[in-house]
Amino acid sequence: MKIIDGRQISDAKRAQIKELTAKIKSETGKTPGLATILVGEDPASKVYIGSKIKACENAAIKSFHFALAANASKDEILSLIKSLNSNAEADGILLQLPLPDNSFAQECINAISPLKDVDGLHPFNAGLLNLSKNWDELIEKNALLSCTPAGIIHLLKASSIAIEGKTAVVIGRSNLVGKPISMMLLANNATVIMAHSKTKNLKELSKSADILIAAAGKPRFINKEYIKNGAAVIDVGINRVGGKLCGDVDFDDVKDMDISITPVPGGVGPMTITMLLENTLKAFKNRDRSA
Ligand code: NAP
Repeated sequence: MKIIDGRQISDAKRAQIKELTAKIKSETGKTPGLATILVGEDPASKVYIGSKIKACENAAIKSFHFALAANASKDEILSLIKSLNSNAEADGILLQLPLPDNSFAQECINAISPLKDVDGLHPFNAGLLNLSKNWDELIEKNALLSCTPAGIIHLLKASSIAIEGKTAVVIGRSNLVGKPISMMLLANNATVIMAHSKTKNLKELSKSADILIAAAGKPRFINKEYIKNGAAVIDVGINRVGGKLCGDVDFDDVKDMDISITPVPGGVGPMTITMLLENTLKAFKNRDRSA
């Protein structure tokens, strides 16, 4: 088993981002800025937001935090987003999800200016991904790509895992992970199979994968019966079992296989925040160019 070390790959990328931020500062006199919004007091969300703010600090990106009460109305959230859309210091706007009332989350995301949508979840940016001919075009357009899937592509490339012509099986079809990673793998010329809870022959399909993306949010349900030797396995799942974090892959069961795999924690998670930093710089550049 070969570990794909998300922390190490992420640290290297963050060092590059820090250099880029300094370059932007010396060339323009401006510092890219990220506005973060947290609604409510959910402990996990507080930890995630805290890590994002800390990562900004370490990369010399300015961050502005806005905390709203758990019972904040949709109109209050929309009005804050609207004011941040016209705030020149905020290049990116991150709304921490899920909201206490998640029924209007997409409406709030839709209110974020697509140019500041550093989570890449606005229909404009999701559409850009879907309409792209290939990966190069997305890079050329400086597209704001959804962070977790973009981080997975970075992990694969940094680990010299070939994507083109490979069979990729994605387990999960959420707007946050499953759909965008499928489109990104497709943009990189993989042959992509999208699986979900109604998929009939999951074991058989998964076993055909050169690249297996496990993003179902089901603790340790992927064991060696789902994986072929030689595969690259990206475990996106973050599950809390008995107070401990685990992924969707049963790590102990697969540890003797000849595979490359991301651990949980320390795999996909750190890359998600790194791509948020990268998107903040992209948003800075895109706004600058359009000014
Ligand atoms: P989600 O919205 O709950 O989606 C889960 C997907 O998995 C759904 O499409 C569901 O199918 C599918 N699924 C559920 N059970 C399945 C099964 N037994 N067989 C096949 N497919 C199944 O979750 P998400 O937001 O995509 O997140 C997935 C996991 O990734 C979670 O553990 C989450 O915490 C983690 N995550 C990690 C990061 C990170 O930074 N590392 C970021 C985001 C998410 P249906 O559509 O048919 O219901």
